[in-house]
Amino acid sequence: MNKITNHLPTAELQAIDAAHHMHPFTADGELKQKGARVITSAKGIWLKDSEGEQVLDAMAGLWCVNIGYGRDELADVAARQMRELPYYNTFFQTTHVPAIALAQKLAELAPGDLNHVFYANGGSDANDTNIRMVRTYWAEKGQPEREVIISRWNAYHGSTIGGTSLGGMKGMHGQGSLPIPGIEFIDQPNWYAEGGDTDPEAFGLERAQQLEAKIKEIGPEKVAAFIGEPVQGAGGVIVAPDGYWAEIQRICRKYDILLIVDEVITGFGRTGNWFGSQTLDIKPDIMTVAKGLSSGYVPIGASIVSDKVADVLAATEFNHGYTYSGHPVACAVALENLRILQEEGIVDRVREDTAPYLAEKWHSLADHPFVGETKIVGMMASLALTPDKSKRAPFAADTGTVGYITRERCFANNLIMRHVGDRMIISPPLVITRAEIDTLIERARKSLDEAYEIVK
Ligand code: PLP
Repeated sequence: MNKITNHLPTAELQAIDAAHHMHPFTADGELKQKGARVITSAKGIWLKDSEGEQVLDAMAGLWCVNIGYGRDELADVAARQMRELPYYNTFFQTTHVPAIALAQKLAELAPGDLNHVFYANGGSDANDTNIRMVRTYWAEKGQPEREVIISRWNAYHGSTIGGTSLGGMKGMHGQGSLPIPGIEFIDQPNWYAEGGDTDPEAFGLERAQQLEAKIKEIGPEKVAAFIGEPVQGAGGVIVAPDGYWAEIQRICRKYDILLIVDEVITGFGRTGNWFGSQTLDIKPDIMTVAKGLSSGYVPIGASIVSDKVADVLAATEFNHGYTYSGHPVACAVALENLRILQEEGIVDRVREDTAPYLAEKWHSLADHPFVGETKIVGMMASLALTPDKSKRAPFAADTGTVGYITRERCFANNLIMRHVGDRMIISPPLVITRAEIDTLIERARKSLDEAYEIVK
C-alpha cells in the first residue's frame, strides 16, 4: 500500500478517498464520478489544492476560520499545551487553567449576564446540551411540563439527533425519523421567498407573531424555550426584516420563555461585533457558540449561560457532559484565537472598514440580470438568483440547479462560494483585505456571467 502523502497524484488520492472516506453532505455517486478537490495547505484566505491551484476561500471553511489560515501562534500554543497537559477532564470537581481562563474570557466578551460556560465539542452538541439544560431548568423551577422548544423552518442547529431536531431542514428530518418529541416550528422570516406582496417589516412582524400563536396553541405552561440564529446561515443567509427580533423578544418575555440564540456562525466578529446579538439587539438567556471560537483550528463549542439560568441549575447536579468538554488543548487554542481577534483589532476593522467595503461591492452585483436580492450583515452575505427580478420568482421545477451551476463556475474560477437552493452565500475570513474583496467580487461576477450563459 502506498503511504498517503500530498505527493501522490490527485487522481490516486481521489480514488482512495472515494473508496474509503464517507463524506458529510456529499452524494456518493458524485464523489466517485468527479472526485473530491484535495486541499493541501492554506494561508490567510487562500487554499492550495493538490494541482497547485490557489483558491479564494470566501466561506472561511465552514464559516469558521475567522482569523484566517496559517497562524503559527495557534500551532505553538497547541504544541505547548499538549506537552504540559494534553488531556484532563472537567468532570467530578476537577478543572485546569485553560478551561478556567477561556470561561473567564468568554464571560467578559459575552453581553449581559452571560457569565457561565458549559463546554462542548462543536455547535451541534452544544445545542444538545441546551435542550437538556432548558428542560432541567424548568424541572428545577417546579414546572417539568415545560419541555417544548420552538424553532423555525429552514433553521440550522447542527447534525446530531438534537441539533437536527432543533433545525428546520425537512430533508434532514426525513433521515432518521426526526425531530424528537417536543420540538415545534414556526415559519422563517424569509421575505424574499415568502413575503408575497406584504412589505418586509409587516411580513417580519407577522412571522414573529407566529411565535405567540404557536405558544397559545401548545399552551404556555408547556413551552420551555425559543431558539434562533440571529441571521440564518446555512438556510441561505436570511436576514430578518427590522422589528422581527424585538417582537420575538417581547413574546418570549410575555410568556416567560427562555431565549436560546445560536451564534455558532454569528459569534466572534462575523457580524462586525463580537456577537450577532449585539448587532441585532438581542438579549439571550443562553448562547450557543463554536466555529469562530477557535477559528476552526481545533474542535470546540460551548453554551454560554446567563446568571438567571445558571443560578437555577446550581441547585442540582446536571448529569451531562462530554469526555472532551473543556479539552485543555482546544481551550488554549481558542483563548489564543480570541487574543488575536482582540489585540489585532480584527472585529473593529470588520465593523469600521472591510464589512462596509464588502457591502458596497456586494450590492453592486444587484445589476446582474440573474440577481434578485443582495443581503449582507458584517461578513456574511447572500445573493438570490432569479429568472424574473420583478416577481422575485424562483427558478421553476429545477430550483437549486442554477445555484449549483453557479457554484461549479465559482469552483472553476478558484472561488469557494456556497449555494443553498438558488441563493449564493459567502462568509469569508474576517482578515480579508480590500484588495482581496475586489478579487472575490471579480470572480463572483465572472462566475455569474458564465452561469447565466449556460442557463439563459
Ligand atoms: N448551529 C449553527 C447556527 C450552525 O451554523 C452550525 C453549523 O454550521 C451548527 C449549529 C452545528 O455546529 P457543528 O457543525 O460544529 O456541530
